Amino acid sequence: MKTHYQICSHCVMDTTDPDITFDEQGVCNHCRHVENVIRKSWFPNPEGKRRLDQIVARIIEDGKSGEYDCVIGLSGGVDSSYLAYMLRTEYPQLRILAIHIDGGWNSELAVHNIEHIVKRLSIDLHTEVINWEEMKDLQLAYLKSQLANQDVPQDHAFFATLYKVAVDHFGIRYFLSGGNYATESILPAAWGYNAMDAKQLLAIHKRFGTIRLKTYETVGFFKRKIYYPYIKKFKMIRPLNFWPYDKEEAKRIIVEKLDWRDYGDKHHESIFTKFFQSYWLPEKFGYDKRRAHLSSMIVAGQMTRQEALNVLEKPPYNAGEIESEKEFIAKKLSISVEELNAIMLQPNKTFRDYPSDYALEQRFSRLKQYISKWRQR
Ligand SMILES: [Zn+2]
Repeated sequence: MKTHYQICSHCVMDTTDPDITFDEQGVCNHCRHVENVIRKSWFPNPEGKRRLDQIVARIIEDGKSGEYDCVIGLSGGVDSSYLAYMLRTEYPQLRILAIHIDGGWNSELAVHNIEHIVKRLSIDLHTEVINWEEMKDLQLAYLKSQLANQDVPQDHAFFATLYKVAVDHFGIRYFLSGGNYATESILPAAWGYNAMDAKQLLAIHKRFGTIRLKTYETVGFFKRKIYYPYIKKFKMIRPLNFWPYDKEEAKRIIVEKLDWRDYGDKHHESIFTKFFQSYWLPEKFGYDKRRAHLSSMIVAGQMTRQEALNVLEKPPYNAGEIESEKEFIAKKLSISVEELNAIMLQPNKTFRDYPSDYALEQRFSRLKQYISKWRQR
């Protein structure tokens, strides 16, 4: 545990990340990681376009025998909306299936945005609605677990559906993700554990859940790490890392071309995600996700450090709105605001307090590194 406060001299990451380290210039490990590692696979330039052209040609070639070449996720947020637009305009021959998960928390705006996007771009949409009673039970279990990452039930459901629909049903080989270094190159591991760990998800539900999960899909370690990538040869590609992706410019384009409407902040297309990121994390854990997002924008050259510091002057949530948001969340989860407040006051836990596949995952990634080194000999 660090006892003194320090903030990076280049970005705005600080000692609220318990694992942060600084060099003699006061630059943090995240900034150094971006410069030394991430830059090698980040091409926001003409070289990126050349690479993306080749990747897309390969995707189309591999998709010949199926109904679709690739799948994308549509949350209604900027990144995924812009990705859909960019792929449609740059690669009109690409046959895209969009998947959307309705976990019960979509804002009306998100629904509006998704409907407009698929209509304007003529993209087929598969929407999967998660059984609300099961989702609610799982989300309450997560709140009671006192873990930082409360988006696990929604995120896990997205990937489980992606595998089921895209790979098992349509035989699609490529997932084109809106994930990108321009806005997400920095995110401390300590701020949120892997949503894909089905062992942990089921252990938490077993301990705190009250009903059986009959239809909620999970993806276990073997299927996720071996079956889908090696047997089904399913790959994830992040096209926006091969693109001069600028968030503000992207927003301007989707507003103009897709009639997209703004939510205000990142990932606030889901009411629950908004509560979790702007209230649960900063109030309970001291983690302000804006800090990681703004730092990513600084290292991407899309914002100055001073601009980021100005944003952070404001609190992460709107004090005038938080009570009504809490009422909404509590009501939807069938608990009282007092119960929600009582949950907030319980001691925080980390993923190490519950069973997980963390050790297995570490061993597997060391094995993969070993094999790739051995192959390079
Ligand atoms: Zn930094």
